[in-house]
Amino acid sequence: MEEDYSMSQLKIPSSDVTVRIRMVDTTGVIVVRAISFIEPVQPGHEILNLPCAAFLIDHPPSGRKIMFDLGVRKDYWKLPAGPQKRLGMVTPALRVDKDTTEILMEKGIDLSEISSVIWSHYHWDHTGSMELFPSSTELVVGPGFVSLPSLLPGYPHNPQSPIDSAAVENRVLTEIAFDDAASPRIGGFRSHDFFGDGSFYLLDTPGHCLGHICGLARTTGGSDSTFVLLGGDICHFAGDFRPSRQIPFPPAIPCSSLDRDAYFPIPCPCSLFADSHPSNAAGTKPLDPCKTPFYRISTHETAAYTDSAESQRSVDKLIVFDGSPSVLVCLAHDGTMLRKLPTLNSNPEEDLNDWKRRGYKEMIHWGWLNELPRNGKLGRKQAVKGFWRDYQQWPEAQEVLCKNGEAAASPLL
Ligand SMILES: [Zn+2]
Repeated sequence: MEEDYSMSQLKIPSSDVTVRIRMVDTTGVIVVRAISFIEPVQPGHEILNLPCAAFLIDHPPSGRKIMFDLGVRKDYWKLPAGPQKRLGMVTPALRVDKDTTEILMEKGIDLSEISSVIWSHYHWDHTGSMELFPSSTELVVGPGFVSLPSLLPGYPHNPQSPIDSAAVENRVLTEIAFDDAASPRIGGFRSHDFFGDGSFYLLDTPGHCLGHICGLARTTGGSDSTFVLLGGDICHFAGDFRPSRQIPFPPAIPCSSLDRDAYFPIPCPCSLFADSHPSNAAGTKPLDPCKTPFYRISTHETAAYTDSAESQRSVDKLIVFDGSPSVLVCLAHDGTMLRKLPTLNSNPEEDLNDWKRRGYKEMIHWGWLNELPRNGKLGRKQAVKGFWRDYQQWPEAQEVLCKNGEAAASPLL
């Protein structure tokens, strides 16, 4: 068997204890302008389709169930004023059919069974309907959250806050400070052993916004442990960290990864993508397009990253995780993963734990290529057009959201 060099670099402590991990399709789909997320934007790839995943994690030794992220609340017109204003002004399209709370309950999981909800970060497309969880459900957030005065006590007490005060009131709010000097760095990130037994770590992955954290779930134990990395919004597109030196483009992209599309020949030589790699056009020292990630984190003035350079450093570290055959990287907004892997919605009994044996990593690794432009023509189509409410188009949405959002600019009365 080929030696997994990435694993020795990542330095994940050993353990026999695992968690069970299931993916939830939160039904939220957002369309965003690519320029705020990736660079350089290519003609034909001006928008990104961002479906939203969340994860249900069972910890058998304690019997605890936790959630990692919640997606978008269904009634997004009740979001705090700040995010509504932003939605109305800059987001091209949004559809949410169900609340994650509804999906859990439909599958027989009572919200009181969820002992903790972890927010990878406090943005509206991850915080869901937190207020619907009982007060017994703890909310876990990343470093700096509690002390940032613009966040707490939350909207409407603080009109500018992107957090709904109802999400944080009357429940235990735990901020992971990552200040335990004894905790190891995993893959270069500060870590926190959530259950104290090596089954689930939180990683300090800064850059996108204050307190952004990832999860690292041990899916099989022992000396050849496997892991699922819950990426949150460490970045928003798999082409930010693929291809890489560890996993370069294969000479032919597996047909199973590509849409059945008249554009893609069978077999599909990787040159189809490598030839249009942005690195071909950049600078005097060309990088190997088969081993260099397609995009970098946006540094545009509208960038969705508080600190683009820091985000890029986090993504550079993520490449080592992604290069390991023992780690499956799951970004919150990776549509391929939602398309191809079992979800709680469709297969409630099926978890992701057996991902390595079932070949899930290979199944989803190159799916992002379908989103790329083809000779300047559009890649995959825009996933949603306009705003939706109760399964129907809602033409007045932007007007309503902007109007509701005006409260963000009003002083507290
Ligand atoms: Zn997000």
